[in-house]
Amino acid sequence: MNIRFYNAKILQTAENHTFHIVEGELWVKGDSIVYVGENSATAETAAENAGSGKEAPAWDREIDAAGNLLMPGFKNAHTHTAMTFLRSYADDLPLQDWLNQQVFPREGQLTEDDVYWLNILGIMEYLTSGITSNFDMYFFPPVNAKASADTGFRTVQTSGLNNYGGTVELMEENYHIVNELSDLTSFIVGFHAEYTTSKELMEGVAKLAQKLKSPVWVHNSETKLEVAECKERWGITPTQLTDSLGMYEYGGGGYHCVWFEDSDFEIFQKRNLTAVTNPASNLKLASGICPVKRFVDNGISMAIGTDGPASNNCLDMFREMFLTSTLAKVREMDAECISADEILYMATAGGAHAMLLDDCDSLAEGKKADIIMIDLQQPNMQPENNIVKNLVYSGSKQNVKMTMVNGKILYEDNQFNIGFDKKEIYRHANEIIGRMK
Ligand SMILES: [Zn+2]
Repeated sequence: MNIRFYNAKILQTAENHTFHIVEGELWVKGDSIVYVGENSATAETAAENAGSGKEAPAWDREIDAAGNLLMPGFKNAHTHTAMTFLRSYADDLPLQDWLNQQVFPREGQLTEDDVYWLNILGIMEYLTSGITSNFDMYFFPPVNAKASADTGFRTVQTSGLNNYGGTVELMEENYHIVNELSDLTSFIVGFHAEYTTSKELMEGVAKLAQKLKSPVWVHNSETKLEVAECKERWGITPTQLTDSLGMYEYGGGGYHCVWFEDSDFEIFQKRNLTAVTNPASNLKLASGICPVKRFVDNGISMAIGTDGPASNNCLDMFREMFLTSTLAKVREMDAECISADEILYMATAGGAHAMLLDDCDSLAEGKKADIIMIDLQQPNMQPENNIVKNLVYSGSKQNVKMTMVNGKILYEDNQFNIGFDKKEIYRHANEIIGRMK
């Protein structure tokens, strides 16, 4: 499809993690952005404005953005999508009780078919929140990837390998299956966490990462207890341990990163690792508050994730952005400590870079067309004193008018275009949890 957006405000990435807005039009040809520039009365004059050598494609659609905002889609940099079936099923428990007594016994009953349908429910929710790709850790990565490819959604899969499920050999197999499945799907090496994984398995992960030249991702220092027990077992922190095993030759990072010590920050700096913060999950499970300002001050890359829908319980990057910002401020008791631009950068480009999706990080010629339209004609986005601040502090998923992934509009004006009837997806989700004991 060739799609021309005109009369748009277009969010552009500037230096030092800041943004500016240009008014004009944006052209999508196939899966890519081919032009961002000034408004033109017609497609033909737009072609002239674009300069020599630029021909306006034959348009399948021309969309009047009516002054609304086009911006890069949000990147949900840590989630467990298929956990949609456990949303609001078992809440208000400490992390270990919640995991061991509620989550693990029911996850053990999931079939591959279940996981497929539960993924699609999650993908629908992502689209309504302007999320155009997820960094997903769950059972059956090829099934998760197929659900994404079938609906047109972009996904990066990692492994949740631990002592209770999976092998390094299976991860290597999944790496190839998912990377080769579709141009929407990719795979990066990972495992669940230090506290669920033996040293022998972790050594196997490190070897595989070196063989595949892959980064490594893992839940890291989510709770105070996790770090204390790791130090009791090994005398060092989870970051020191994983680094000492040779995990990070090709980069990677950690999910949560709440209880960090000086040496952990140094390792993240030295290895060029990324910290993904998951503020709603950390609040709901009473895990703690991520030291966001220290990561930023130390020049460590950051991204934002929702974590799974059983521990959040929603997949909404607006809520995560607001919490990332306000928790950082209250942790430091300093309202100046982080800017709205920095937070928006984490939620878009920061996530893209963490997920090795550099061609999805911004709206520029040659980038993939992973684009959302934000409805500015709603009271919570007015006046337009500062659109970036409006997005972070007063924005909401109600403002997401359109979500495009890889040049295809998958969600527009509350309607899904993913090849499935939403009622069928809801029926599957309720049936799956309904038969569990
Ligand atoms: Zn998680």
